[in-house]
Amino acid sequence: MKRLLSIVLLLIVLFSVLPSAVQAAPVNPGLSLSITPREVIPAQAGFVFIGGPYPLDISATLGDAPLAVFWSGEGYIAPFVFGFDEPPGDHTLTVDVLDRATGEHTTLSDTIRVLPFNYPEEYVALNLRLTPLLDYDLNVAEENRLDEISAPRTPLNGWGWPFVVPAPGRVVTSRFGGHRSYNSGVWRAYHTGVDFRMGIGEPVFSTADGIVAAAEFMDVRGNVVEIDHGFGVYSQYAHMSELLVVPGQPVAQGDVVGLTGALGRTNGPHLHFEIIVNGQPVDPLRWLRLDPNFVPPREVRPEEGEDAPTS
Ligand SMILES: [Zn+2]
Repeated sequence: MKRLLSIVLLLIVLFSVLPSAVQAAPVNPGLSLSITPREVIPAQAGFVFIGGPYPLDISATLGDAPLAVFWSGEGYIAPFVFGFDEPPGDHTLTVDVLDRATGEHTTLSDTIRVLPFNYPEEYVALNLRLTPLLDYDLNVAEENRLDEISAPRTPLNGWGWPFVVPAPGRVVTSRFGGHRSYNSGVWRAYHTGVDFRMGIGEPVFSTADGIVAAAEFMDVRGNVVEIDHGFGVYSQYAHMSELLVVPGQPVAQGDVVGLTGALGRTNGPHLHFEIIVNGQPVDPLRWLRLDPNFVPPREVRPEEGEDAPTS
């Protein structure tokens, strides 16, 4: 029950919705489908909840794509997210439920709406020594490796809500989602995380409990740690000088996973931090602001005259 309460609390804060805004659509007694939130912007996560008599065999699709469904301890949960370039429009969620006890088969459906939203355009000037890291094939290869790391869908790993800031007290030098053009269009990409200003060799803390999915060097991200928190949710820590965990290792929230650095495609030392849901990066600050100790990081914009290391 405590876990359910914490998840509900999480959702209320995460998506800034009132409990009354959570849509519940009972189809038959004891079977319910709810979606929070029902309207999202591109690259914003939402959750589908299915409640009913147990045990149930459940499969779900969103549009034409299968959606992974997990047992939460109190019901079933399915995170969903659309990509950065998803156009506005409605998507049909279909949930097939088989009650093993009665043999009853039920299909539930609802609609999830993607709202129009444009992430801001950003122009990034990289040091000339870094231009080889704008190579198309190199970037695609790294993205493929990242997709591979975050592909497994595992049960809850005891995430320890709320997620906490991996770099407490640090200023944000670049927020999530900027649609970047590097060195006059040599490479274009969305900023898939949030950047915190750091020195070199400072500790980086795990945002939540989980299992280390990867700890390795990548060309663009330098030394990277990725942690599987379960339910298709991963966190990622990049540009580190040192890796202090190994794949398969359980970590607790607040454990030091590595030391900051300036390796990879970056003009200077900083921490690049990502939250990834179903393989799609989402805005980490939406998750971090659940922490009662969270202080919204001060943002530094390049036009303020301070350098903003970016990648
Ligand atoms: Zn970054």
